[in-house]
Amino acid sequence: MTGGVGVAVRAWAGLDAGAQSDSVEQPKLTGGALRGRAMGETPAGGLDWAALWDRIPGEDAALLAELTENKLLATLRDRYRDHRIYTYVGDILIAVNPFRDLPLYSPEISDIFSSRPLSSLPPHIFAVADRAYNSLQGNPGKLSRNQCVVISGDSGAGKTESTKLLLKHLVRRSRGNLQLGQQILQVNPLLEAFGNAQTVMNPNSSRFGKYIQLRFRDGAVRGAKINEYLLEKSRVSHQDPGEKNFHIFYYMLGGIPDEEKQVYGLLQPSLYRYIGSKWEEATPSHWVESYQRVCNAMRMVGFQEQEELDLKVILSGVLSLGNVVFEPQESGGVGVCPTAMGWLKAAAGQFGVQEEELLSCLTCTLSLTRGESIRRLHSQQQAEDSRDSIARGVYSRLFGWIVCKINELLAGDMDMGKELQEIGILDIFGFENFSVNRFEQLCINLANEQLQNFFNHHIFLMEEQHYKEEGMEREAVPFSNNQATLELFLARPWGILSLLDEQSSFPQATDVSFVEKLNSTYRESPLYERGRGFEPGFAIHHYAGKVKVSQEKGSSRKISVGAQFRHSLAVLMEKMYLAEPHFIRCIKPNSQNEPGLLETQTVLNQLRYNGLMETLRIRRDGFSWRPSVQEFVARFGILLLTPGAEVSRESCKRIAETAQLIGWHCGKSRLFFKYWHQDQLQRRLVELRDAAIVI
Ligand code: ADP
Ligand code: MG
Repeated sequence: MTGGVGVAVRAWAGLDAGAQSDSVEQPKLTGGALRGRAMGETPAGGLDWAALWDRIPGEDAALLAELTENKLLATLRDRYRDHRIYTYVGDILIAVNPFRDLPLYSPEISDIFSSRPLSSLPPHIFAVADRAYNSLQGNPGKLSRNQCVVISGDSGAGKTESTKLLLKHLVRRSRGNLQLGQQILQVNPLLEAFGNAQTVMNPNSSRFGKYIQLRFRDGAVRGAKINEYLLEKSRVSHQDPGEKNFHIFYYMLGGIPDEEKQVYGLLQPSLYRYIGSKWEEATPSHWVESYQRVCNAMRMVGFQEQEELDLKVILSGVLSLGNVVFEPQESGGVGVCPTAMGWLKAAAGQFGVQEEELLSCLTCTLSLTRGESIRRLHSQQQAEDSRDSIARGVYSRLFGWIVCKINELLAGDMDMGKELQEIGILDIFGFENFSVNRFEQLCINLANEQLQNFFNHHIFLMEEQHYKEEGMEREAVPFSNNQATLELFLARPWGILSLLDEQSSFPQATDVSFVEKLNSTYRESPLYERGRGFEPGFAIHHYAGKVKVSQEKGSSRKISVGAQFRHSLAVLMEKMYLAEPHFIRCIKPNSQNEPGLLETQTVLNQLRYNGLMETLRIRRDGFSWRPSVQEFVARFGILLLTPGAEVSRESCKRIAETAQLIGWHCGKSRLFFKYWHQDQLQRRLVELRDAAIVI
């Protein structure tokens, strides 16, 4: 605990002085032999998995002759019934959660997606990964453009599983440093242990958002970086009915052998308030395995033994702190109950801080006014709030430290001077609407509004704007623009976040005065609704519905969190706007998490607020791929078989002729292609390469 590493962990956690699926059956894919078989029962009574590889109409909903909600829904339902969980809408992938293991993700299948033209294969998540990878490869030198994959959907729809599958394919596809590849794949079990929890929606729900960037040079993975967003730290001290604390607590309590527990100062699980009665319902045998998996993952990623030890001691400290309870004192203020003194001592020891220091943080506040330090005693409620907020703060800093450490360990060989290319994958919680919505929900929903805006921007506005700029005539396609909602949050000086910052700087501000300010500012706004009832509150009309946003106690502390979140969201969006996006829309087919059941209304709601219907329309009519003349010639000029093809619209026309493309347009500086043209060109490149190898 006293080693240099231990100091680093504790400093990060703010504790130092001075610082406050594996598939069940794998089909053997041997190529064409599998084609042409009908989907159905095999003689053995099992499902004929091989038939999943048959190409059938409906794979691309954008090509449906009849373009209605019902038709899209029926297509998804029929495909889902046959275990065809993936469907394209143009180049957007819809993934309907199968809630069962499907034999679709073996290394052999990964290789098929790397080696064959994607247009000859059914819709698949590996195809999205491969398209992003190809686009990264196909733009050499200055013209290279980073890629980003945006995965969206409700909680439990399959975003995190999709992220893992994308990573799996990309790591295998790029065939870089094997060890680094393995390290990258081990990051997920690690992050999930600390950042996921059982909720009523999903037994393995991510309680944080992440943007994973894979960095490539010469087609091989050279490093990875993770950004984490909005860990739901309130879960550390409070869980709603039917929900649990973060997995790691249960893994640790179930997995550490009794004789080893004293090393960390751990006692009986049921003694801990933050875990409490939830322990009884549990199945510890699964936690023992999970605990081992996390420890292995830490070692494989490269954590040192001392770091691992320190992490566990601090986690134990969080549990001990949770058991500190208070009682009023005759001399005024509150003190720790005599029966809980042992817990205070334990927590101080585990955090490596002085017991008196911890006690004083819990029972009073020191403030500096005109150079004079003033000590204010806490009420019982304030002492309890301080305890919980220290526990949450420690946990979230620990999580931050883990992410930082992972980034250090996976940074790879970044110093070779040559610029790295990136594929980013965004897995961020979907839109949330609970009975009581807190500041966390406001941030999550704001992030979702931003993403929806990014999606709209990309799919709709960019398209319209480009056509116009390039001198092409097209009708505008109506869509639900959420710019106004975003402004309600972000505008300065009158947006909700700005008003929150402003109010937080007034010492006298309360939840009530904040809500009054909002009520008067947005009196005329159709997107804002005054709260009804006694508690201060308000409601915002999001693209996905209306959410009432209650204020938490102690909103003054939210200022830095709000500002920080706005900043990290802005950085993320800037990165994403510069990249070429790929979208995956995950759909949750039913709310019971059952395989084989697709509830029409549940799916329809998601299709609607995902903007998929509008996408369907515009994608079908539109030109989704718009490379510049330079980009196009650099990437496909080789098809002309003359060295150094001239960068001109003329060359582009000749290239398109060579590849026999039909139905594309040449704008002033850009070319307008249907999404399938890219595959056609890619196929020509492969043919050319194969021919060259034969010669
Ligand atoms: P989200 O991240 O959107 O909340 P998850 O990715 O955690 O949802 O998925 C919830 C659960 O659904 C997973 O634990 C898994 O059981 C199941 N699931 C999701 N995608 C798949 C898939 N492609 N194959 C099999 N099961 C899946
Ligand atoms: Mg998730």
